Amino acid sequence: MSELTEDTNLTGQSEIEFCEEINDFEDNAPAPRGFAGLLKDAPQGSTAVANGLSQQLIYQINLITPNALVSFDDLNVELGNAAYPFVPPEGKEGLRKAIEARGTKLVVNSAYRTIAQQFLLYNWRGNNSNPVAKPGTSNHQSGLALDINDRSGWLQFLQPQGWQPLAGDPPHVDYKGGGAKDLRQATILAFQVLWNKNNPNDKLTEDGAYGNETGKRLGMSPAVGFEKAPWDDQPRLLRLSRPRMEGSDVAKLQEMLKAAGIDVGVDGEFGPGTDKAVKAFQAQKSLVADGIVGPSTLAAMA
Ligand SMILES: [Zn+2]
Repeated sequence: MSELTEDTNLTGQSEIEFCEEINDFEDNAPAPRGFAGLLKDAPQGSTAVANGLSQQLIYQINLITPNALVSFDDLNVELGNAAYPFVPPEGKEGLRKAIEARGTKLVVNSAYRTIAQQFLLYNWRGNNSNPVAKPGTSNHQSGLALDINDRSGWLQFLQPQGWQPLAGDPPHVDYKGGGAKDLRQATILAFQVLWNKNNPNDKLTEDGAYGNETGKRLGMSPAVGFEKAPWDDQPRLLRLSRPRMEGSDVAKLQEMLKAAGIDVGVDGEFGPGTDKAVKAFQAQKSLVADGIVGPSTLAAMA
């Protein structure tokens, strides 16, 4: 069993990063183009180059701790290129209320940062003059951090909902309200579990600690994700989302749609074309045409 017993609290152990600079770097980075190599060899650019691996890591965390991270991409938000909009359910509820109270769109440049993304940023940018926290230590690995535009304008709406500013880091807020649980160890553990599943002859200790061995294996991980994906054990709900879902399960869905006579490309990425194809299939089968692929839609395809 891989389970963490210790709940750490962010108090007193916040890492100061230059969030503004990191976000500028991500925003100005060239869009990634199909890189199929190892994480350590990824060309410098946007950390979205590791979207496949990042999605597996987020899903794996939720398999270990159900509902640890939920997406808030359905709220009135604008998201940065490489931002994974994941927070705990209570943190999302706080965001929903704050956005409703202010009545405007919240611009989020960075939210949850997977350990694969942090690995890339640290390798590319981590030096004394440009601090990027070590993989596993960033506040953005906690699942409780956001970098937002116009923080000063948002604070009066966010603070009553448990979202607090981090001094010395102008765009950064952390969720400290009810249900806040620091996921930094869980983030590392999720990687170790995923690595072990794919490398039974080269197992890491599943301890949630980022040591040399774990760091080395992270670099040796495929940027597009592992062959044995966490959704092989427990299918994930597939839908059009930000960032787009990609992986073997999406490719399989596209193949099934095609086999059912629906026109769709098979590229393993759930974009607007796949959304349209799913809705067409659902309508054809008299299912709710919501574009969300759950058990009933999958059953209708079998
Ligand atoms: Zn930040």
